[in-house]
Amino acid sequence: MTKRSGNFILFGMIAGAVIGAFGGYYLPGFFTSISFLGTIFLNALKMIVVPLIVASMIVGVASLGDVRKLGRTAGYTFLYYLTTTALSVIVGLVMVNLLQPGTGVEQLGSDVSDIVAKGEGKTLVDVIVGLIPSNVVKAAAEGDILPLIFFSLLFGGILTSLGKKGRPVIEFFESLNLAIMKLVTLVIYFAPIGVLAIIGEIVARERDSVQDLLSRLGMYTLTVVIALLIHAVITLPILLRIFAKRSALSYFTNMGQALATAFSTASSSATLPLTMELVEQRNKVDSRAASFVLPLGATINMDGTALYEAVAALFIAQVYGIDLSLGQQIVIFLTATLASIGAAGIPHAGTVMMVLVLKAVELPLEGIGFIWAIDWFLDRCRTTVNVWGDSIGAAIVGNTKEFRQTPPVHGR
Ligand code: ASP
Repeated sequence: MTKRSGNFILFGMIAGAVIGAFGGYYLPGFFTSISFLGTIFLNALKMIVVPLIVASMIVGVASLGDVRKLGRTAGYTFLYYLTTTALSVIVGLVMVNLLQPGTGVEQLGSDVSDIVAKGEGKTLVDVIVGLIPSNVVKAAAEGDILPLIFFSLLFGGILTSLGKKGRPVIEFFESLNLAIMKLVTLVIYFAPIGVLAIIGEIVARERDSVQDLLSRLGMYTLTVVIALLIHAVITLPILLRIFAKRSALSYFTNMGQALATAFSTASSSATLPLTMELVEQRNKVDSRAASFVLPLGATINMDGTALYEAVAALFIAQVYGIDLSLGQQIVIFLTATLASIGAAGIPHAGTVMMVLVLKAVELPLEGIGFIWAIDWFLDRCRTTVNVWGDSIGAAIVGNTKEFRQTPPVHGR
């Protein structure tokens, strides 16, 4: 795809989002009836995710060449994930303490017993056990990304150790990878219509909560949005500048289609095909780094989600009039980070993980009901920041000496 057609599509997506937002509000019937167009777009993205992850990770690991290099790349990647997640939670905690959005807000709520039930069963041990798939095909069929990543990493590593015998299989996955990326380009052409339909349908469905968004929960929404903006516009660009020597503005414009897709789908995983395409093709990040950092990042590096969890937990405490000590806020800091790692890259996953955070400091789980009404909006905002954080991570890891020493691979 040329730069020009890429910009044209980005413009179409933004126009689609704006028309969808107004159209959904004023013509809810019509936009509900065309919601199937959004489902087609979403399905097309999800259709690509599984083969994309398997092929790109196997090729990525195989092209790194040696296990020590993989170890160091993994080290940088996790260091980046943890540092940025921690920074984002700190920004969230500072903002919610400063702005006090929950003070004086009446208790309001919707029934969230099913969300609480979903989140209650989760423990950290489950997350770790879940990494190892008992059945790879089942994991693929259920779109369970982490176990697939685990398998692909292992498989790619083993292939390189086979020498000549491993070559045909690596070449097979290289071709598969190429074909999948071409598919991504095709799907992107449909993105403006997809975005229009998705945003139109969600606004049509959530029309009534727009009132909440602006009034009762206005200050809370504002706190989350301001904190997300500080992280996305100040913290991450500074890191990009220092460690990847790149300008955030051009990096951001090149990522536009992926960020718009993240906002409309509220899913980092569904956005992954676009994130990979744009990071590699438009931002010219070494594909060996991108194919490691991005799939993993889509499920475990969620700066926006971590920030959101911290702000939401303190907001709930403020509404109930519960004062949290510094120690308890540190517990929130830690659990929000863990919850964001454990949350899947799908809509509302972060809200389900709120149960973990609230339980850790013994806040009432019904508190999730206060914030549920506008989760459809904040989920989109935090997902966009999640994807932005992943793409910057790819540039930073791609600029480490592991990759600078050997010629870049933009092999698609
Ligand atoms: N929807 C988010 C994502 O896919 C996860 C969350 O709910 O925070 O990145």
